[in-house]
Amino acid sequence: MSLTALKVQIVGGGIGGLTAALCLARDGHSVDVFEQMQDFQAIGAGIQLSPNASRVLHDLGLQDAITAQAFLPEATEFRHWQSGRVIAETPLGLAAVERFGAPYYHIHRGDLLQLLVAAARQQPRITLHTGARVTRVAQDKAGVSLQVGDIKHRAELMIGADGVHSVIRAALWGDEQPRFTGNVAWRALVPAERLPAGLIRPVSTVWWGPGKHFVHYYVRGGAFVNCVCVVEKLGWELESWTQPGDLAELKADFAGWHPDIQPLIDQAVPNSLFKWALYDRAPMSRWGKGLVSLLGDACHPTLPFMAQGAAMAIEDAAVLAGSLARRGSTVDNLQYYEALRRPRTAKIQRGSRHNATTFHLSGAGAWLRDRAAGIAGQRVMDGLYRYDALTAVGK
Ligand code: FAD
Repeated sequence: MSLTALKVQIVGGGIGGLTAALCLARDGHSVDVFEQMQDFQAIGAGIQLSPNASRVLHDLGLQDAITAQAFLPEATEFRHWQSGRVIAETPLGLAAVERFGAPYYHIHRGDLLQLLVAAARQQPRITLHTGARVTRVAQDKAGVSLQVGDIKHRAELMIGADGVHSVIRAALWGDEQPRFTGNVAWRALVPAERLPAGLIRPVSTVWWGPGKHFVHYYVRGGAFVNCVCVVEKLGWELESWTQPGDLAELKADFAGWHPDIQPLIDQAVPNSLFKWALYDRAPMSRWGKGLVSLLGDACHPTLPFMAQGAAMAIEDAAVLAGSLARRGSTVDNLQYYEALRRPRTAKIQRGSRHNATTFHLSGAGAWLRDRAAGIAGQRVMDGLYRYDALTAVGK
């Protein structure tokens, strides 16, 4: 329980903003969440929730709600794009619970968002504002304010959880210049019933090939297979999660890949197919100023090559709440939060960028990578999944 109950504004009702609202409200703060969409909607299909994230969500009492929607993969595996050879495999399922103290889930982003919204609606200290696009923010010695339409709202502290194109980050630090990575990503959903029985194992699979990779895993209790496919290509650089893709182009991109992949492309639900250009952003040297700070993709947008973007936003939420429970001024506590979170999130931003190269190697580079994959993979997972955001702040 925090020493001082604060009035907090959170801009953005995505996975990070809602988790932060739940963590802060539980500690006695009153929280207003401003979401620009008319309703809470998750763009994108699947998300992998590793134990470092699931332990925070369990601590919020969400285990049953997650279990009802999610899929528990038995393992994660890397396979050769053409031969199908399993290059490395690491157990998940019960083994992950034993090793890391919390499960590894696959979940549809919409399902995760809805269960966070439902929990927030049950919490009397949280007020959700939808259709509330924040256009201006300000702060003075007495507190913070933001503007939605003609209405100004005041509070004691503001968190920008408004995603990769954050207006709060821009208000604090000006416009950024992200760099196109030369990678374009596709995502698609495939109804499991349309696939030959046994074709897709109950594991998270990453197929590595020269200049490309293909990820698939089950969501919605196994009813759908979520696919994320990344291809190095130039000439198309739109960074949007809502741009429809063309099935024929995806099929051409993965022509010649292993036969197990082809039915996934052929059976994808056409209106579930989206395409977006992947941009890289360097870790920020500072996140917030005074009584305004940032969380999630607003301050550490992360390429999807470690499946950790949302997990980092969820960790941020728990560490933010823990930091605000310390003695000291709110400004000092926000700086403490940033100091704890910046090194870890920067490491994961860099690691994800590095994976963009590693996943797409060919020739001798690929051979060396494959030899090291098992041991290296387990070491990376240990570092990622053992992190406990609930105790990171200390007492
Ligand atoms: P967002 O989810 O972007 O939410 C920001 C919210 O702010 C939105 O609801 C938006 O409408 C709102 N908003 C924006 N501007 C305003 C404004 N001016 N006023 C009010 N509201 C505003 N992460 C994982 O951990 N595991 C994975 O497996 C994984 N897979 C991924 C696959 C793909 C294809 C992609 C694209 C990402 C993936 N990620 C994954 C990353 C993860 O989705 C993001 O890191 C995560 O959603 C960030 O959450 P957030 O709350 O910070 O931002």
